[in-house]
Amino acid sequence: MSVVFVDDPVVLAIVSACSLVLGGLLGLWVGRIWGVRRMLQSVLRDAEVTARIDSPTGLWNRLGFEERYLAARDGRRKCDWPVSVLFLDIDNFKAVNDTHGHPTGDLVLGCVAHLIGESFREHDTVARMGGDEFAVMLLGATLSESIEVAERVRRDVSSMSVPTEAEDWSGTVSIGVIEITRGEELESALKRVDLALYAAKHAGRNRVEAN
Ligand code: GH3
Ligand code: MG
Repeated sequence: MSVVFVDDPVVLAIVSACSLVLGGLLGLWVGRIWGVRRMLQSVLRDAEVTARIDSPTGLWNRLGFEERYLAARDGRRKCDWPVSVLFLDIDNFKAVNDTHGHPTGDLVLGCVAHLIGESFREHDTVARMGGDEFAVMLLGATLSESIEVAERVRRDVSSMSVPTEAEDWSGTVSIGVIEITRGEELESALKRVDLALYAAKHAGRNRVEAN
């Protein structure tokens, strides 16, 4: 193999200029790819959060609730701390739509959702599970503590008044409460708390029942 030495200053200048330009372009290209990658990661993160939010109320949706339940359940499995779940459903809500129309129903739903959302601590999970049904997961709360919290929320809703185009709305919620058992499957917890809610409805509504 033979090595060729170039000592022509013009050729050397051209070669160095080309290297500088190529190096610069490579740097720009790598920087741009890095920037695009970070932008895509941030878009993906936002999309993941959005997919777990109920957009009309800003609360967690069912998917968000279920994922957070599983995380809390696994935490409870490791360290024996209490986790409770509340199910809340607006009483006779269909009548609001039927009597005053869907937009008034939406307004009432939004106000009740706001009150429920403001009634819990930051590390609790408040979700709209669909329609006029909400679920709340309380971390570190025993059954009796959760019943007290549920009673407070029930009273707050019953004393709220929502101005509508016709008459002001005042209504109530029924609430089911459970404390989850160690490692309890999501399906089992949802079934138990739904039964508690059903008992509250069956007992006349505007009530808290525990299972
Ligand atoms: P109950 O006391 O047994 O809960 O009676 P209810 O009339 O509240 O009955 P239910 O909870 O089964 O009905 C919920 C109604 O909520 C049914 C539907 O018309 C209404 N609904 C569900 N989603 C929405 C919504 O996003 N906006 C409005 N305005 N109404 C909704
Ligand atoms: Mg209802």
